[in-house]
Amino acid sequence: MTTHSDWRDATRVVHSGRTTDSQTGAVTPPIHLSTTFARADDAEPIGDYVYSRYQNPNREALERCLADLERGAAAAAFASGSAAANAILQSLEPGTVVYHASDLYHGVRSLMQSVSTRAGLECSALDCFDLDAVTAVIDRADVIWCETPSNPQLGIVDVTGLSALCRDAGVQLIVDNTFATPILQRPLALGADLVVHATTKYLAGHGDVTGGVVVAREENPFWERVVEVQRHAGAVPSPFDCWLTLRGIATLAVRVAQHVVNATEFASRLHAHPAVEAVLYPGLPDHPQRDLAEAQMSGPGGVVSMRVVGGEDAAAGFVSRLRWIPRATSLGGVHTLAEHRVLVEPDDSPVPRDLVRFSVGIEDIEDIWADVARALG
Ligand SMILES: *Cc1c(COP(=O)(O)O)cnc(C)c1O
Repeated sequence: MTTHSDWRDATRVVHSGRTTDSQTGAVTPPIHLSTTFARADDAEPIGDYVYSRYQNPNREALERCLADLERGAAAAAFASGSAAANAILQSLEPGTVVYHASDLYHGVRSLMQSVSTRAGLECSALDCFDLDAVTAVIDRADVIWCETPSNPQLGIVDVTGLSALCRDAGVQLIVDNTFATPILQRPLALGADLVVHATTKYLAGHGDVTGGVVVAREENPFWERVVEVQRHAGAVPSPFDCWLTLRGIATLAVRVAQHVVNATEFASRLHAHPAVEAVLYPGLPDHPQRDLAEAQMSGPGGVVSMRVVGGEDAAAGFVSRLRWIPRATSLGGVHTLAEHRVLVEPDDSPVPRDLVRFSVGIEDIEDIWADVARALG
């Protein structure tokens, strides 16, 4: 496998996990659709594979690449980010106390409150953005789960500080790195035990494949359980999905760089606009955790949220006046998307009802801004 330990990220995204095909010389990996792999006369598998749900060449290539980008020991790919999160939750014993950050992707929050709670986990929200609040409960916790930047309010969690608290208390720390990507932030190096991604977002990057991954700092017994859930529960991505995701990752470094340039300019223009009440973006000087974001990340990312003057109705009016920017959920693709979050958040969501989230794409910033400025009026 071609991975050099001294490669920089822009090289790793293109080469990690890939090899030139020994039979054909193909430089781009072939897609192996076969569900089963033959054994030799001595009953040993001919290659490294037995059955595609257990492992197949395309998934293995993707997993190696993702483990390498996060500088982890191993990775397990799933059919969605939610399936990746669920595999971790299913690997926990009934009675495990899980604290999740108060601002968290609503799907994972709902998963914890329904499926995981029925399975006997005790899941509740915690203000992970305040280490004093964490200290107050850490002795009761088994697992802490956070996102940074968080979805959709762009809060920043101090992963180094949080991981020190967790380590002292024997608590497992799980960080969803979907918003930052390994290009901007590496939570395992900051002390997290596991990293989760919706590869659906920036990693695949083109809005055309759903997937997820768990990356481990070390291959310990808990990791073996996650792999057991992957193989036996079978929420695995197809070979073609793995191939598409790996293809998308090849341009991750250049895409993320352009997302950051566009989002930084976009956020500062929004910030200066009289129809905008507040802009939530860790790259802005008035973000409450700006210094932490600068220390922990190499760029503030491509997602920008805003609150609109005039409340929920004004936010609804704004998104309805956009001409070419789709009003759609999801993020991290090449296209700019805008979403009035109240449409997807559950009724008890802590997210403000006037919040609009933008996934700033890689189009020309002047075109993005023209549509948004027109819709703001
Ligand atoms: C989208 C998302 C998920 C869930 O991923 P799916 O592929 O939609 O299941 C998890 N975490 C974050 C931060 C997300 O944005």
